[in-house]
Amino acid sequence: MELRLYNTLSKTKEVFTPLKGNEVRMYSCGPTVYKDATIGNMRTNIFQDILRRVLKYNGYTLKHAMNITDVGHLVSDADEGEDKMIKSAKEEGKTPLEIAEFYTNRFMQDLKNLNIDMPEIICKATDHINDMISFVQGLVENGYAYETSTAIYFDVAKLDKYGILSGINLEDQKAGARVELDEEKKNPYDFALWIKAPKNHLMKWDSPWGLCYPGWHIECSAMSRKYLGDEFDIHTGGIDLIPTHHENEIAQSKGLTGKNPARFWIHSEYLLIDGGKMSKSLGNTYLLNDIIAKGYSPLAYRIFCFSASYRNKLNFTWDGLEAANKSLIKLKEAYRNHLEGTEDVSCDIIDEFEVKFHEAINDDLNMPLAMSVVWEVAKYPSKSKKIANLLLKFDTILGIKINEIEENNEEIPEEIIKLVEERKKAREEKNWELSDTLRDEISKKGYKVKDSKTGMTIEKI
Ligand code: AMP
Ligand code: ZN
Repeated sequence: MELRLYNTLSKTKEVFTPLKGNEVRMYSCGPTVYKDATIGNMRTNIFQDILRRVLKYNGYTLKHAMNITDVGHLVSDADEGEDKMIKSAKEEGKTPLEIAEFYTNRFMQDLKNLNIDMPEIICKATDHINDMISFVQGLVENGYAYETSTAIYFDVAKLDKYGILSGINLEDQKAGARVELDEEKKNPYDFALWIKAPKNHLMKWDSPWGLCYPGWHIECSAMSRKYLGDEFDIHTGGIDLIPTHHENEIAQSKGLTGKNPARFWIHSEYLLIDGGKMSKSLGNTYLLNDIIAKGYSPLAYRIFCFSASYRNKLNFTWDGLEAANKSLIKLKEAYRNHLEGTEDVSCDIIDEFEVKFHEAINDDLNMPLAMSVVWEVAKYPSKSKKIANLLLKFDTILGIKINEIEENNEEIPEEIIKLVEERKKAREEKNWELSDTLRDEISKKGYKVKDSKTGMTIEKI
């Protein structure tokens, strides 16, 4: 079955096949590890995870690299301001290395909690300084870069075309360009590849141009080339990376190898909070840990993300998450009911459902449509192991651990536990009337007891 993915380069859905054999080589721009990742960042990670899972579902193997930016990302994407890592280190009274380690570990924990399928290669910028130096040297040799007293810049005017992803026109932009901090820059759009470190700068490395530190864009070009080659299949990131970071990556690779590094450029849209931007000043910057602290499973957030295509904005509300959490519980319950079912369902029906699901995910990862098929299957009136197995197959995409009983993070109140124990005793004594009365009482207090062959679970309604 054809897999179609939206390519930001062509602005159309294109049929995807790997450049070489059966292996998909993919690069994702990872986090800058100077602060905790938000649930917005995690939406982008969930999109990348679904893309990985869909590629595997279609029988491809993966070589996927994700970077960890631990140097070079300045406060403004346009080469201005302090390095985010250094700023954070100063604010928290730690070294940049300590900051990087701390937030990298927290980021990895979030990925684990969200059951994200991990990239085969995770590469840190500071481990690849020599690869970046060679890249910059190559650009200087090819005539695409020049040195000023503060940095080595990429000379955008040397390219036939800059701006193929975002469609910007340099001539139009020049008129409104800002006053440059570095008057030696040839054009406003030239960007720093390699920056000369001022005295007392916390992170710097010896290089042919003296003690320097890298620009942000060069790390992704150097690492993607090192692990995936001059041309690979897919490059991903959030939509905000299109106009600067990804344009500059393409420019750098064209300057060195003459090639656009990736065939498909795929970008995910933003998560909004209560209809607007997430911002510290509004107090609505949520972390995955905030979701967990409220007693929700992180997997409920996964399901929540499936309510929109990755290419559309998605509005986060706590009510929406509550609904997703109920869906998570219901889907797991449906799986268990089918697993214990003894009815038969014809293979044709199973195949038909499988094809519908496969078509949905292969249509540019249409998760809302795929979820409608999942629900149709989960609610199928005949309870059958064949349906349970199909749901398990779908779960290779959903990643909600459909066959595992959800651990409720929120503590069950003492009084509920007492009522459940009384009910258990009543059932052992075959006092069905008392058992039903206790079940109703538990339900009135907002909890549900489920009995199954494997035991009993208590869930919040
Ligand atoms: P940042 O922490 O801003 O460097 O972002 C890291 C990655 O997360 C980038 O690919 C961004 O596009 C993505 N990202 C940041 N905020 C959001 C958001 N609200 N929704 C979706 N993705 C986001
Ligand atoms: Zn990048």
